[in-house]
Amino acid sequence: MSIGENLLDIQNSIPKHVSLVAVSKTKPTSDILEAYEAGQRIFGENKIQEMVGKYDELPKDIAWHMIGHLQRNKVKYMAHFVDLIHGVDSLKTLKEINKQAALHKRTIACLLQVKIATEDTKFGIPPNEIGTILASDEFKSLENIQIKGFMGMSSFTQNDDIVKTEFELLKTLYNQYAPSYNFDTLSMGMSGDFPLAISCGSNMVRVGSAIFGTRNKI
Ligand SMILES: *Cc1c(COP(=O)(O)O)cnc(C)c1O
Repeated sequence: MSIGENLLDIQNSIPKHVSLVAVSKTKPTSDILEAYEAGQRIFGENKIQEMVGKYDELPKDIAWHMIGHLQRNKVKYMAHFVDLIHGVDSLKTLKEINKQAALHKRTIACLLQVKIATEDTKFGIPPNEIGTILASDEFKSLENIQIKGFMGMSSFTQNDDIVKTEFELLKTLYNQYAPSYNFDTLSMGMSGDFPLAISCGSNMVRVGSAIFGTRNKI
């Protein structure tokens, strides 16, 4: 099937309140344009330089999401255009985003990445540290960022029970914090697990290979 057909299949299978981020990392701009022509406007990348290159080349009504682990010294390269940063996992990184956003007179929307996977290879803020960050004076002084919710990645396993438990944990945390902090975004679910993530309350899924085909390992 073509990229456009894959996209429409997925769009038709997910509820309207769920946003689809088409994860185009490692894929050429020609693939992104194919998805763009099929109506897709939100694209996700995990490397800042790669995203900047694609931003420069592609139509300007694309909303670019940074979904990868952030290198603080590179935040400045995307601060003028990035639409949503999913992978924020420290106050230090938030401060850098805030500083770069201020230089461009913008407010940059961010999601806190929460560590929900039991395997220790994944990045993210431990659930018990979220409250401390959000309640800190340092956080409250950051005027050029807006936290819109949480992002999480499940363990890399075929065991749906484990994945479900992790997604449910993130949804519980989201429900706990969303009212006080005006959150509206819960980013969880990828090609292998987005239907399960949606059934657990996700309203933003990040789907790459199910749209663009498998990636070469890099
Ligand atoms: C690559 C990636 C995805 C998409 O993965 P697929 O399995 O190809 O859908 C989603 N989220 C993050 C953070 C990623 O790095």
